[in-house]
Amino acid sequence: MAVLKNKRTGLVFFPAFDWAISPTHPEREERLLYTRDQIFEEGVLDLPCIREYAPRLVTAHDIARVHFCVPRVQSQVTEAHLIAAGSAALLADAVINKEIINGFALVRPPGHHAMRVVHGNRGFCNINNEAILVEYLRRRHGIRRIAIVDSDVHHGDGTQDIFYHDPDVLFISFHQDGRTIYPGTGFINELGGPGAYATTINIPLPPGLGDETFHYVVDNLVLPLIRDFKPEFIINSAGQDNHFTDPLGSMRFTARGYAEFTRKLNPHLAVLEGGYAIESALPYVNLAILLALAGQDYSYVREPDYRAAQLKDNPERVARVERMVEQLLNIWATRKNIDTEKIFGSGPFYQRRRQIYYDTDYIEEEQQERVRICPSCPGYLTIDSRADRGYGPPVRVFCISVPFAACPACQAEAYDAYVQAREKMNQYSLVYLQDKSTDTFLTFEREKGQEWISEGPKAGE
Ligand SMILES: [Zn+2]
Ligand SMILES: [Zn+2]
Repeated sequence: MAVLKNKRTGLVFFPAFDWAISPTHPEREERLLYTRDQIFEEGVLDLPCIREYAPRLVTAHDIARVHFCVPRVQSQVTEAHLIAAGSAALLADAVINKEIINGFALVRPPGHHAMRVVHGNRGFCNINNEAILVEYLRRRHGIRRIAIVDSDVHHGDGTQDIFYHDPDVLFISFHQDGRTIYPGTGFINELGGPGAYATTINIPLPPGLGDETFHYVVDNLVLPLIRDFKPEFIINSAGQDNHFTDPLGSMRFTARGYAEFTRKLNPHLAVLEGGYAIESALPYVNLAILLALAGQDYSYVREPDYRAAQLKDNPERVARVERMVEQLLNIWATRKNIDTEKIFGSGPFYQRRRQIYYDTDYIEEEQQERVRICPSCPGYLTIDSRADRGYGPPVRVFCISVPFAACPACQAEAYDAYVQAREKMNQYSLVYLQDKSTDTFLTFEREKGQEWISEGPKAGE
């Protein structure tokens, strides 16, 4: 392969040695040990085009801009979470300041299963690193249009949830078919809410498919949609568990396939998600991705047993993927002329009821989500959430979110909703108002009869 142009690529490596779900759980501290050895052995950190950064912490305020943590941010995160999210934000700052062209946050804990409301850990995630980054980019750098491509074997259901009503975030997830793997969602009819139709795109892949189909989806769907959407910033939720040796997934992607995808997508930032073949896959996939980001030759990176992945993809399953791609391209092309009232109904609000299961913490959550259908802005949103932990009384909270680009009418209605919910305090133990337009977050706690305010830094701080 010809030597590609050198790039300046930032790297934060944070294996979170003190954070694990349990000593034998796949999401444990050894996950990145072999990756670290591989990167050192290859002398990658000595390359002039790669710059390593020390990790940084995100603030509780940055988290409250995205999540409703119950009862509060500090009860859902450890320092490791603050560092994982903070490292992504640090690399994004360095990209925007033109210190580097792109970056790779090789961090854990992962985040893409964390939804807007957080009662506990789901799919090994408490807070969503990419979502926190998106709102940080908007607030700190005035960036509006962002694309997130999720290449983990599991559907990025948390990221989807957070941006489901956001027309300025294009979220594309390809993953193993949800009928065959956690979290059981991510089908092609999940396309976003009435104000953000077709800015959520899911491709469920039949198990067993490899690089050939992976790149068919990338070339024919992911890249054309991104070109058309014209994002100012591209994030890759880089899950490596599509690898053919991964113990949790059943796909057959290779390190080379992942690196080619990285080269084609050319993201500003790759943020590590899953990947549990800690010895046979992660060191090779992570190294290949890093080299691809830096514009270096990755063709020599070859995992053991590489030939096992060279089988041809099953033609019937490939044909199924081709039909889905065609269907989604069609939806994308006609999305602006679609009669959303036909799909979502008419009226001032669109609402959906949802059951959310926290597999790691055994919490059952029931949500009633309502979004204001507004002609002038993405509309404010409310969530009535009730969580049953299996012991003690269920916790019921009311959450209100005002979007970054809210119109004055939606903002005023949202504050009214907050006052009304506070009056109904016997129903809710906590009421939250997250106003992204002013970067102000309020929490009212019934037991203490007290309101907490979190305000962002003032200009110049
Ligand atoms: Zn995963
Ligand atoms: Zn509005």
